[in-house]
Amino acid sequence: MPDARVIGTVEEIRNWSRVHRRAGRRVALVPTMGYLHQGHLSLVELAREQADVVAMSIFVNPLQFGPGEDFDSYPRDLDRDAQLASDAGVDIIFHPGREEMYPDGEPWVFVSADQGTDALCGRFRLGHFRGVLTVVAKLFGAVEPDVAVFGRKDYQQLVLIERMVRDLNMGIEIIGAPLVREEDGLAMSSRNKYLSPEARRSALALSTALRTCQRMWQMGQRDADLFRAALAEIDSPEVRVQYAEVVDPVTLASVSEADQGTICAIAAHVDGTRLIDNVALGSADLA
Ligand code: AMP
Repeated sequence: MPDARVIGTVEEIRNWSRVHRRAGRRVALVPTMGYLHQGHLSLVELAREQADVVAMSIFVNPLQFGPGEDFDSYPRDLDRDAQLASDAGVDIIFHPGREEMYPDGEPWVFVSADQGTDALCGRFRLGHFRGVLTVVAKLFGAVEPDVAVFGRKDYQQLVLIERMVRDLNMGIEIIGAPLVREEDGLAMSSRNKYLSPEARRSALALSTALRTCQRMWQMGQRDADLFRAALAEIDSPEVRVQYAEVVDPVTLASVSEADQGTICAIAAHVDGTRLIDNVALGSADLA
């Protein structure tokens, strides 16, 4: 597989995309912050099924990190990413610098959601989704893709992006990709790199608790508070639970009764690293 070209300007990626679209080819975009793992590469695989050419963006977006979060230490390795992406069939990598994306520093115009941000991560990462929606809108404006693929690992992000596209008539098809896990159940994440072997073992508590929820569902349990309690139970000095929620998959509102597809979601700090995970009840994940 020839190496994917790495380009850094909006003009270049837009020209690339327009050439393909004019030739009648469907263009897919896979937005990432890099430090690629199998979860990212599964999005590329889906993108390849959905489109003729695939662009991946790699950009650690300062706008979505809060003060005290890990923007500076976020893992970065462009050479390794370029190789992995090429091998997975990415045709071009859009890797803009901060100045290219935010030439005026702080933009005047942002995209933010009035609903869907007071639950889950939105409650604890103020401004995070405004940063995410703004950068994704910018990437959509630069790449002009027909279709874009996002992982269900970041479930709230996926829902908000679907809403943005609908509410702003962006005309881009959004595909939600299944959550990819390590063999023992840990949700794959670039941030897993931060975990010491001991913390890595503690981190398993998240997926284990979600598996318990999946079992409870299979055994006929429907009381959402009991699912919440099963998730919250993993709270310990090693695994500090930030939220343990059971929400509607479309509105993200808390539910009192679990249904097929209801989302059980958890966030916790493990040895200083913030991890998130979720499962859709009744799905094949963790079943
Ligand atoms: P990130 O680089 O963490 O911003 O993630 C880029 C994209 O990959 C997002 O759409 C994520 O939801 C998706 N992603 C990250 N980890 C996983 C995973 N374990 N399984 C599926 N998708 C993932």
